[in-house]
Amino acid sequence: MENLIQNKKIIYNLSFVFFFIIFLTKTKKTKKEEQKKIAKKRIIKLFELAEKKAFENNFDLADRYVHIARKISMKYLVKIPDEYKRNYCKYCYSYLLPGFNKRIRIKNKKLVIFCSDCNRFSRLNFNIKKNKVDKIEKK
Ligand SMILES: [Zn+2]
Repeated sequence: MENLIQNKKIIYNLSFVFFFIIFLTKTKKTKKEEQKKIAKKRIIKLFELAEKKAFENNFDLADRYVHIARKISMKYLVKIPDEYKRNYCKYCYSYLLPGFNKRIRIKNKKLVIFCSDCNRFSRLNFNIKKNKVDKIEKK
């Protein structure tokens, strides 16, 4: 009988430890997800601020915001949304404003973006099926 009671106690303790480990791993996962959510919010906020600063003709600050947003996306493995990806040059990472340093055309079902800071073209895909054309027209 004593053996049985001891065994029960050991099993009880083990199960407690097991559930504690599960709890820890779950909290770690949710922590990461939360971090990613916050990172995405910050990236969007930074691009909005960059747009504001670019309209105020303060391109140095706008470039700095793009730099910070890219750093955040790399650190927390969050993708920069497609709407904001076209707003900076993928070679020199400067913020692009149409009419100032950006020229945008559609050629062979691709967006061709010309950066007049480094005189280079970047081509981006966009799917007509996913109604991404509507988004561009709204902007
Ligand atoms: Zn460029």
